[in-house]
Amino acid sequence: TIILAFESSCDETSVALVKNGSEVLAQSTATQIKSHQRFGGVVPEVASRHHIEQIIGCLDDVFQETGLAYDDLSAIAVTYGPGLVGALLVGVSAAKAVAFAHGLPLVPVNHMAGHIYAARYSAPIEFPTLALLVSGGHTELVYMPKENEYQIIGETRDDACGEAFDKIGRVLGLNYPAGKEIDELAHQGKDTFNFPRAMEKEDNFDFSFSGLKSAFINTVHHADQIGEKLSQADLAASFQQSVVDVLSEKTLRALQKYPVKQLILAGGVAANSELRARLKEECSKLSGLALIEAPLKYCGDNAAMIGAAGYVAYKHGVRGDMSLNAEPGLEFSWLSE
Ligand code: ATP
Ligand code: FE
Ligand code: MG
Repeated sequence: TIILAFESSCDETSVALVKNGSEVLAQSTATQIKSHQRFGGVVPEVASRHHIEQIIGCLDDVFQETGLAYDDLSAIAVTYGPGLVGALLVGVSAAKAVAFAHGLPLVPVNHMAGHIYAARYSAPIEFPTLALLVSGGHTELVYMPKENEYQIIGETRDDACGEAFDKIGRVLGLNYPAGKEIDELAHQGKDTFNFPRAMEKEDNFDFSFSGLKSAFINTVHHADQIGEKLSQADLAASFQQSVVDVLSEKTLRALQKYPVKQLILAGGVAANSELRARLKEECSKLSGLALIEAPLKYCGDNAAMIGAAGYVAYKHGVRGDMSLNAEPGLEFSWLSE
């Protein structure tokens, strides 16, 4: 089963050809980060325009690279939400056009399900499973009793984890998105500030990062006012340690209530080296629990993950028609066979 997948929910235009939801035959991704950097974040209108300019080139790339033709395909998968409406519409329109022109089934895919299924490129997923989903717009613990069923058991009550990285990065004068650079800076520093770990001990699976962000900003501003020079590396290490502590504490708590054989780590922030190291250590203490990390190259937005999730949805008979629309606020719903 070969699926052509489209992803255009935010600032990455990506097209992939995926075999059996587990093998990437080709992927072409055009990033727009440079265009957004001078604004310190993604500008929706600029994003849509870039997607329109890039998507056909990405599509041509994957066919050229593989020598495949539309006849070889079983279905077209596309991200239809959540994300920026104008950005999503470019992928949805392209997918509808090729599905219609070539008489192929259209499979609408939830972007967050895509992030989870990026882990499929590391190992087969066994159910029930629990996913720690940490990205630019989401921070969620998702319990999956079966391969096409998603239950959010906990989520952030304010900022997403990646958003917090990007916002404190801005305070440190780093480029957007700042996650990777903070990760690198943190390696050279120590947790000397002991920032708050919000909700860490609370008996639920929710998160909050706005208090941490405020504490960080207040610390930096106060130092500025009194002319004190703080270590950027220590600031980064302290922030990151606080985030990693809370994420791992809540995940371990969730694992007690939802016993699973596998923990999946996925989303853009899943690229964080400290988070990966910490979860690996915690999982090794829990005998019988495997940690499946999405491969680094598939943590951020990409079409390969949409092809992996799209394959599962396709097998379960999920179909869209020519009325498919972008759903910017799309949430997981329980989908049964
Ligand atoms: P969503 O998937 O919720 O719609 P998004 O698609 O914008 O949001 P992703 O592309 O999944 O988010 O992830 C981007 C985020 O990942 C950014 O906030 C970025 O700073 C963060 N990030 C990337 N690498 C790292 C890292 N090594 N450590 C921490 N954060 C990172
Ligand atoms: Fe994403
Ligand atoms: Mg992105």
